[in-house]
Amino acid sequence: MQYEGDVYRPPSEARSLIIQVTIGCSHNTCTFCHMYTGKQFRIRKREEILADLEECSREFGKYVRRVFFADGDALIVKTPLLLELLAYVKDHFPNVERVTAYGTASDVLRKSEEELRALANAGLEMVYLGAESGDDEILLQIKKGQTAAELIEAGRKLKRCGIKTSVTLISGLGGPEGMEKHALGSAKLINEMNPEYAAILSLQLREDSPMAQEVLRGERKLLTADQTVEETEIFLNAIDSPGTIFRSNHASNYVSLAGVFNDDIPEMLEQLEDAKARHRYRPEWMREL
Ligand code: SF4
Repeated sequence: MQYEGDVYRPPSEARSLIIQVTIGCSHNTCTFCHMYTGKQFRIRKREEILADLEECSREFGKYVRRVFFADGDALIVKTPLLLELLAYVKDHFPNVERVTAYGTASDVLRKSEEELRALANAGLEMVYLGAESGDDEILLQIKKGQTAAELIEAGRKLKRCGIKTSVTLISGLGGPEGMEKHALGSAKLINEMNPEYAAILSLQLREDSPMAQEVLRGERKLLTADQTVEETEIFLNAIDSPGTIFRSNHASNYVSLAGVFNDDIPEMLEQLEDAKARHRYRPEWMREL
């Protein structure tokens, strides 16, 4: 099996078998994102995907516990093909425990509830939804192509249909001026979705991304470590999403946090205060991805 180009996956899929069902991202315009700029989006041919699955099942089928469908928004694939792939996984990987995929709100909203329920029954356990922000102005600025209302409806729809959601947010997208609205909008988004998982990464830009160019032209300011922590504090203080498992322990984060909403919020706020008081942040060289 040969992967096409760089392959990205969520941190929690580090031990998963990654199968590219699409190449690139169908949206590919978010201004901070460099992941798939070099790839022309396409859905791979059914035969190619099945050939990859067949090769992997023959070589190490019984060792696979988790399968992740890549690239950027694998959920765009038509439901009959996804159902066929999920059935293949079930039949040929006897010890598989879960199958997950990246998806956009548009992918979720395009599918009927009947389709999503069928995918859940066939083994699609979770969709990783990159929301990035819950503030509409910021979503527009970063060219996310989705509104907060659409993201919320997508999360609720997945939940109604029995598919878990892992929502990713990115701190710093509003810059210092937009810190508060970004934090409060993102907290509202999580509160209204009440997803199983939520994560905050910190903004990291590669030079070739449009947003990095905005910074170089002086049109956008990045947050300092202190401001990033303050933004997360505003976010946590506004959260009311019982049971959501929260992680902010990615390599990009200045302070590592992990807990369950709402019970662990006071402890996480203390950790942030402590880090700020001692200026104990992950150094910049360690944040480089
Ligand atoms: S952030 Fe997600 S949706 Fe936006 S361009 Fe990157 S992969 Fe595509």
